[in-house]
Amino acid sequence: MSRYFSEKYSALTPYVPGEQPKEMQYIKLNTNESPFPPSPRACEMAARAAQSLQLYSDPTCARLSEAVARALRVEPSEVLLTNGSDEILNFAFMAFCDEKHPAVFADITYGFYEVFAELHRIPYRRIPLQEDFRIQIEDYFGLHSTIFLANPNAPTGIALSPSEIEQILVRNPDSIVVVDEAYVDFGAESCVPLIHKYDNLLVTQTFSKSRSLAGGRLGFGVASRALIADLNTIKYSTNPYNVNSMTLAAGLGTMEDAEYTARNCRAIIENREYAASALRRLGFEATDSKANFLFAKHPLLDGGALYRALKEEGILVRHFDQDRIRQYNRITVGTKEQMDVLLSVLQRILEEKA
Ligand code: PMP
Repeated sequence: MSRYFSEKYSALTPYVPGEQPKEMQYIKLNTNESPFPPSPRACEMAARAAQSLQLYSDPTCARLSEAVARALRVEPSEVLLTNGSDEILNFAFMAFCDEKHPAVFADITYGFYEVFAELHRIPYRRIPLQEDFRIQIEDYFGLHSTIFLANPNAPTGIALSPSEIEQILVRNPDSIVVVDEAYVDFGAESCVPLIHKYDNLLVTQTFSKSRSLAGGRLGFGVASRALIADLNTIKYSTNPYNVNSMTLAAGLGTMEDAEYTARNCRAIIENREYAASALRRLGFEATDSKANFLFAKHPLLDGGALYRALKEEGILVRHFDQDRIRQYNRITVGTKEQMDVLLSVLQRILEEKA
């Protein structure tokens, strides 16, 4: 830290992204990216947009907002596009949390919520998940706080139903409830239709997972016009051109190629169920994941040691050195071939152990 760094940030522990190794070709199952490339249409449209990079991007993201709104059956004024969904989450912390509106989230959930709360000096509280990592919805009733729910949750993959989330919305009529649907396309049900019924709901989604555009950095929020207007106040006070024009074009190409995304989601769900059954046969305990990753532990294997053993074998998974989940690893669901390599390496590790 330099002597110039503002004291207000000196105690900040930044978010630690998963490794993006350059030195070796790993089977990369650590950051929940798609194993499939972007839609060819997305690539073509991004390449064409590159030829106009001398111009600023459209700050209103009009065409892509319309395409997203059409697909989600909402109005363009109910959508705000951002630089990854991390940005809309950051905007939500800025817009809807303060001393009078502390943040609340689960003890085991997406690690960035805590970082945003610390960054903006927002008071926050973590609510422990139950022993089986499920959310007890009653724990979220009448909190008088801004609630952040990853649904499906990360890193467990466990999802709440929209009717359970609806009960949380009803019991917190004067608080914003943010439902982070980064992984919703892999088998959970979206709460987007509820934005017309609850003016305290903000749903966030991303193009990074099901839509194969993690490197493009594209996400969005869906909420009532009034909430989107609040979030736009934050956006235009920080970075009006927050989404670059190549990414806007890639996003539009992706929306125009919805069948490509749907097909990839079906493949990932199939590979997830295949890998989950095989892991259980090897003696792993895995949560009921509705996301593009599995969260598993083995009674004979230490979580950290397994992470290191897999890395030596050229397979990267994500291990969180955190209370309650130290024995687990989060494994991104890849292609069937990648899952087969993982499973045979795991089988060998277990045989060597026996
Ligand atoms: N929410 C959750 C639960 C996530 O796991 C992630 C990905 N790390 C994000 C949001 C943010 O992803 P992105 O900024 O790529 O949209």
